[in-house]
Amino acid sequence: MRKYFIAGNWKMHKTASEAVALATDLVKELKAGPHKYMIAPSFTALDAVSKVVKGSNILLGAQNMSTDEQGAHTGEVSVLQLKDLGVQVVILGHSERRHTYKEDDSMINRKVKLALSHGLEVILCVGELLEEREAGKAEKVCEEQTRLGLAGVSLEDLKKVTIAYEPVWAIGTGKTATPEDADAIHAFIRKIVADMYGAAAAEAMIIQYGGSMKADNAAALLAKANIDGGLIGGAALKADTFAPIALCK
Ligand code: 13P
Repeated sequence: MRKYFIAGNWKMHKTASEAVALATDLVKELKAGPHKYMIAPSFTALDAVSKVVKGSNILLGAQNMSTDEQGAHTGEVSVLQLKDLGVQVVILGHSERRHTYKEDDSMINRKVKLALSHGLEVILCVGELLEEREAGKAEKVCEEQTRLGLAGVSLEDLKKVTIAYEPVWAIGTGKTATPEDADAIHAFIRKIVADMYGAAAAEAMIIQYGGSMKADNAAALLAKANIDGGLIGGAALKADTFAPIALCK
């Protein structure tokens, strides 16, 4: 039985003090929560939030990371710097990185391998654009992003990887994939993982759904056989909208 993994991606929201306030509330509210949890504040709030979540059942996540350990990369943040702040998980290949900041699969794959080589957990995001879905290419896009994102990742390191299926047309739009549509893609992604790593690894893989997930649709999504959690944006920005999802049975 896979354990649900409920994660909040705070994107470019909250000052450090606002982030500390939310993290403090969540540590209290999720204390007895039955699932695995992570929150990913902006880089500028990681240090402060790290101190709040330390010793709690909430993992500290970062939203991105450089392809390189160090060097002349103005504006980038390295794996060493994240680890130094206590970061345990990094979100890679988010659609906003892929589409707004033009990160391609090979760049994302370098980041995935670098993060894993330093012992971080990775949430690898995959998902199709609306035009790709309408052209019947959702599976093809998810397959490519999964295969290329995981290229060269060992079976051992795969244990530290979570896949997040985030259909781009559902992110921040209020449009959620139906539980049936999401489950079908999750099942498809699991088949790709089985093809790459075998049935046991695919069975163990946590696949989160992301895209307008909220308290009122979370239970129906999580009830599906292949949906093992959520990567939540908008609804993760307040304790009273995140906690009901995080505590959902
Ligand atoms: P929303 O929950 O705001 O749609 O964002 C989803 C997302 O992109 C999480 O990474």
